[in-house]
Amino acid sequence: MDTAQYKNRLRHYFDGVGFARWSAIYGEAELSPVRRSIRTGHTLMLNQALTWLEELPAPPAQPKALDAGCGTGLFTLEVARRGYQVTAADIAPQMAHATAAAAANAGLGPQVHCQVADLETLNGSFDLVACFDVLIHYPAQPFVTMLSHLAGLCKATLFFTYAPYSPFLAAFHRLGGYFPQSQRRTTINMIRDQVVQQTLADCGFTLRFTRRIGVGFYHTTLVAATRN
Ligand code: SAH
Repeated sequence: MDTAQYKNRLRHYFDGVGFARWSAIYGEAELSPVRRSIRTGHTLMLNQALTWLEELPAPPAQPKALDAGCGTGLFTLEVARRGYQVTAADIAPQMAHATAAAAANAGLGPQVHCQVADLETLNGSFDLVACFDVLIHYPAQPFVTMLSHLAGLCKATLFFTYAPYSPFLAAFHRLGGYFPQSQRRTTINMIRDQVVQQTLADCGFTLRFTRRIGVGFYHTTLVAATRN
């Protein structure tokens, strides 16, 4: 599959069956134990990113953030509440619309600008760029291209997650059905730590914090990097 095919598949998935599945996981209703573990891990990941945001140097007045692959807008709303003007973009229309609706409901509409867009088509310049649980769906080559594009939009702080490579997790993902034949699920692609470190260095970023988060069926590495 080439990158365009990956993107098309993800757009269809997250605009269809994946929308129902993930808006439930990112919501508050009762869930099966497997999905509950994903919600718990994801919440832990977002809270860690918000804690790091407090620890990093404060942004200038009227800071701007980009939430690339915003999903239902969980992180978008948190940073909007902290005073950022947020551009929230998602390749799946239903996801971008869910974020717009959530922002309006929370009274944050004026601070949140939602777009249906592939993150590689975005431009601008942001104090904070976040891309959570999006790049995990792409193999190493598009991963590097997309991360480099996001780094180019980032003036200061870059947050993202990736699925770390490990033989154990490779087996685990196979067992968990993360490498499916059907269109009903997404694939997780594992990226080696050195690839991430090299890409950040090539883009002029320093890795500031990293944390592996593993809860049940949720396994990810969260990274905070800052421009040199
Ligand atoms: N970042 C959110 C949602 C993660 S789900 C959160 O952590 O809560 C992954 C999201 O990435 C989906 O909504 C999917 O549509 C979006 N996505 C996948 N590829 C994308 C791309 N190339 N550009 C923009 N969004 C993308």
